[in-house]
Amino acid sequence: MPRGKPIDAEWLRERYPMMTDINELLDEHEEKFGWRPSKTAVYTKANKLRIRKKPIQGRHKRCERPVYWCKEPEMEAWMLKHDHGQRVDSLSDEFRERFGFGLTRNQINLFRASHGTQVRQDGTRRGGRTRVPVGTERRGKDGYVVVKVREEADVAMSKDNWMLKHVHVWEQANGRKLPKGYLVMFADKNRENFDPDNLVAVSRKLIGVMNAIGYEWHDRESLMTVVAMAKIRVARNRAEASMRRVCPCCGKKFDNLNRLEHGGSIHSTVCEECGKAGRKPPNDSGGRRRKYDHDKMRELHARGYKNEQIADMLGCSAPIVSNAINHELEKRKAKRWQRTS
Ligand SMILES: [Zn+2]
Repeated sequence: MPRGKPIDAEWLRERYPMMTDINELLDEHEEKFGWRPSKTAVYTKANKLRIRKKPIQGRHKRCERPVYWCKEPEMEAWMLKHDHGQRVDSLSDEFRERFGFGLTRNQINLFRASHGTQVRQDGTRRGGRTRVPVGTERRGKDGYVVVKVREEADVAMSKDNWMLKHVHVWEQANGRKLPKGYLVMFADKNRENFDPDNLVAVSRKLIGVMNAIGYEWHDRESLMTVVAMAKIRVARNRAEASMRRVCPCCGKKFDNLNRLEHGGSIHSTVCEECGKAGRKPPNDSGGRRRKYDHDKMRELHARGYKNEQIADMLGCSAPIVSNAINHELEKRKAKRWQRTS
């Protein structure tokens, strides 16, 4: 909250952990302090103060009485007649006056959702008649087109009757649901091209590798090539990591498959225990001692010296410096995609 009043920390410490519903908390704040903070402001402040919500059992606000609307025609009829989008607490009070017990925000929201009478933010009603037909398309916030695929949401109050259109088209064309962990990509990168030929399902993991190896694609064929190359890269890594090695520090046999899973170096020549203990193989530089100090080069590079200047300082040629530094960048890049693959 860049401007405006700060939220009282004491109050938040006391009330936030017990919160069952952010809107109720905001109502409570408004009642007590006379102004209503934004949800984001509350979450941000709680996060800053490191206040956590209590486990749900401890703070769950139980309704005074469960209501199965379909089994309570009198209450249902009363609600349809008297719920005209007023605030939840006043509706609850009116309900209490008539039936002797109040309703929670959840009960009211669920009633409204299942009766198509949700209230918009601006207080206007959504009303059953203004619903759009199945097949209606809209542009979502992130620029992807979404499409209405069912009249009703399976989960009340959710929008699971709307789907990303490209995912929907892919599922229709392939006759199955998109597997978990997969995304549908537009092969030509045009988010308007819903030709099933342009839609390719790729696992999220693989997309990380595809981006890391740095090849571009512009249509289905080139995308499939990059997918294939990424798969080869993954397989090569797996093969490399599964090589049995002998740890030069402790003599134990090991492989780097665990490191592959958890983003360590698959080229490591010491076992994990020795690596964690910081043990280095004896004669690390045996046979490939470097003529120039690469660490020094990188340090100078990081401090902003030009390659030529570094070459002068260390008495070598500029290409040696640029090679050493590029090598380091490559290594870092490789690490990054190992982590994502
Ligand atoms: Zn070892």
